[in-house]
Amino acid sequence: MKTLTVLGSTGSIGISTLAVAARHPARYRILALTANTNVDGLFRQCLEHRPEYAVMADKDSARALERRLQQKAMRTTVLAGPEGVARVAGLAGADYVMAAIVGAAGLLPALAAARAGKRVLLANKEALVMSGRLFMDTARDNQAELLPIDSEHNAIFQCLPAAFDPADPARGPAAFGVKKILLTASGGPFRALPQEQLARVTPEQACRHPNWVMGRKISVDSATMMNKGLEVMEACWLFHARPEDIQVVLHPESVVHSMVQYNDGSVLAQLGNPDMRTPIAHGLAWPERIEAGVRALDLFEIARLHFERPDAARFPCLDLARDAIRAGGTAGAILNAANEVAVHEFLHRRLRFTDIAGVIETVLQAIPAVAADSLEPILEADRQARAAAERAIRAMAA
Ligand code: NDP
Repeated sequence: MKTLTVLGSTGSIGISTLAVAARHPARYRILALTANTNVDGLFRQCLEHRPEYAVMADKDSARALERRLQQKAMRTTVLAGPEGVARVAGLAGADYVMAAIVGAAGLLPALAAARAGKRVLLANKEALVMSGRLFMDTARDNQAELLPIDSEHNAIFQCLPAAFDPADPARGPAAFGVKKILLTASGGPFRALPQEQLARVTPEQACRHPNWVMGRKISVDSATMMNKGLEVMEACWLFHARPEDIQVVLHPESVVHSMVQYNDGSVLAQLGNPDMRTPIAHGLAWPERIEAGVRALDLFEIARLHFERPDAARFPCLDLARDAIRAGGTAGAILNAANEVAVHEFLHRRLRFTDIAGVIETVLQAIPAVAADSLEPILEADRQARAAAERAIRAMAA
């Protein structure tokens, strides 16, 4: 029996994690759940999963949750604020921690789990984008076991030899005969939309992903392909790869979740229906395999798979992310913060879809990257980039 904490339990990944864990009550017990403001969602999850701790980052929401749990005579301890989230991320009693808070808010709790030496199931890609070196060093120094949940990285992990150890940067993929990592991307909902229509797309259209059901922020990131840019960065850190070792391959069906090409000409791929319960179940059970509730892949039904090169003009965010990797240091945190602000404004209809990349570029040019070997410069870069992004958006509106 392993105890499991789910950070961001009311989100898309959190809900799928609880669904997989609930299929195996003899293997997993839920220790703590966390959310931001979704009191109804966390209340329902507490009734069903009976965690010892429930945390709401928003303090008013925590008070509301506590009242409702008391009315039901539930013994769950309610904590409040980001400090409460970070506390349960590092609880002594937890074996596994699912890091599934969206955005920069997920960084400190994910780091707390790594510092406490947990098995960290890493869905939150922003933690590695912002603080890759610090995060990987923290995990290694505290013997945390890092398992990638992002479907592409989980696929790459599955296609690498079992001897590959994410904690050992001295033995990167080249040491195992790897020539290239082939990172697949669906191209999102606007892959084939005439480019002149992109400026008028709505948040609803951007969030209607052709294959995956995801939270709103990552759905917009998929539509701009910033998601793939963030994933290139994530892959560089997780697999000790250089950006030029990673090739992005458009694959509209989202059946091949990524591939690894070896020196002898072999290409190993991981395939499956686009359902996050597969990588979640893999991370939970690794190195074993458990049933995830996912429909079996029917190759006759799929019949054809397509692969294309990404169009850099249509998806400028991809090159912005590669530039940030090359710049190094806090450039990842700057890119991430500018993107979060721009996506938020787009979702609130205050910024056009095609202006998201412009905001990020302006911010990357305005703020110089510095070394990112501790938390302070990373958090400072995040603060400065958010303020610069807001200024850039106000200037565009004017
Ligand atoms: P959602 O938006 O669906 O859920 C986000 C979760 O984080 C919710 O539980 C939310 O709580 C909580 N949260 C939001 N803001 C804060 C905050 N300030 N402090 C504490 N908690 C907060 O996101 P997803 O599940 O889609 O994505 C989660 C992470 O996983 C992201 O980093 C994403 O990039 C990554 N990922 C997601 C995939 C997917 O298929 N969805 C695939 C691969 C990676 P509340 O409900 O109260 O707002």
